[in-house]
Amino acid sequence: MDVFQKCTDWDFVKLLRSDQMYPYFKPLHEKNGSEVVLDGLPMIMMGSNDYLGLSHNPTVMASAAEAISKYGTSSSGSRLLNGTLTLHTQLEERLATFLKKDRAIVFSTGYETNLGAISALLGRGDVAIIDRSVHASIIDGIRLGVGKMLRFQHNDMDDLENKLRSIPKHSGKLIIVDGVFSMDGDTANLKDIVYLKHKYQARLLVDDAHGIGVLGKNGRGTCEYFDVEAETDLITGSFSKAFGSLGGFVAGDNDVIDYIQYQARSMIFSSSMTPASIAAAISSLDIIENGEDLRAKLWANTHKFSESLQRMGFDIGRSTTPIIPILIGDTPRTFHFWKQLQQHGVFTNPIVSPAVQEGNELIRTSVMSTHTTAQLDNVLRIFEQIGTSLNIINPGSRAPA
Ligand code: PMP
Repeated sequence: MDVFQKCTDWDFVKLLRSDQMYPYFKPLHEKNGSEVVLDGLPMIMMGSNDYLGLSHNPTVMASAAEAISKYGTSSSGSRLLNGTLTLHTQLEERLATFLKKDRAIVFSTGYETNLGAISALLGRGDVAIIDRSVHASIIDGIRLGVGKMLRFQHNDMDDLENKLRSIPKHSGKLIIVDGVFSMDGDTANLKDIVYLKHKYQARLLVDDAHGIGVLGKNGRGTCEYFDVEAETDLITGSFSKAFGSLGGFVAGDNDVIDYIQYQARSMIFSSSMTPASIAAAISSLDIIENGEDLRAKLWANTHKFSESLQRMGFDIGRSTTPIIPILIGDTPRTFHFWKQLQQHGVFTNPIVSPAVQEGNELIRTSVMSTHTTAQLDNVLRIFEQIGTSLNIINPGSRAPA
């Protein structure tokens, strides 16, 4: 049997392409904050993780450009060997102080962070207890390690307790959740999780890729928001969201971060963050630390968008953050909705199985602080028009304003 036969037999992409419905890997010709150009059509971006608009912030862009002129375009090696610049250690020190942890280390992506940190920590006999909705990088990190994995139903504390109770006392236990869940836009029940963590002598890792910079009065994320920073043993995150850059980090106690630094294969065997990415992340951290106004704008936009969608009759599920899914519930209708939104100049992301369970297909939108009121009003008008024509909403049953 030819090892490539499965590729020839795989018809998912061929079917979508033949139907002009192919939604993925679309190249943007232009990208400028909340405006992009796709297939020659100007569009409003409603599917980006650039929550604070920092990927186009002039100060952040200037810092990246300056770092390139000083250090070049690549770090040219692994952190272990030649790939550590003073910029890396500066960013790590700044992050540790910001997140009130002993130490932080940075990786080249958020994905590599979870892959490396989690696989390093889970030894034989250890158990990771994870929410069913965590990001794929967490699952891959567990699979790369030699520990076991138990999943509990999304945000179901009874199920988490049952799982914790079932683990032998002598086993090491690491509870892992996303702070903000990347598809549903809801948050982890961190207060209850911390209670259970203490009760069963477990440790807690929160992947706050979508929370840092966005939640909490000071932008320290979901743990700040729920006032559980001291009880959260490890925080991982990504620079590709609110920081407008590329890279990831893990922050925690000295010994644990030292161990991860030398054990994480994705750190040792991969080149480090580029000078431009680190400089952009440092510059963004300056802004995030003093970013109350930006966050206020982001949250005002979020409330406007989510409340208007709900008034129109759209189902946004459990979202309480700038990640706002529109639940559709089957693949063909999700693709039709997405396609019409695109034809009307609105960029969104269609999410179907296996990224979500069958029956939970959705259009994922995300709001940025840089969206103008006029842009959001325009997008809402288009959502209402297409939602009505596809029978996703029924204006007759519209909730009062
Ligand atoms: N964790 C979560 C919760 C995410 O949503 C993502 C990215 N979608 C990652 C980790 C990976 O981050 P990165 O894009 O920096 O690899």
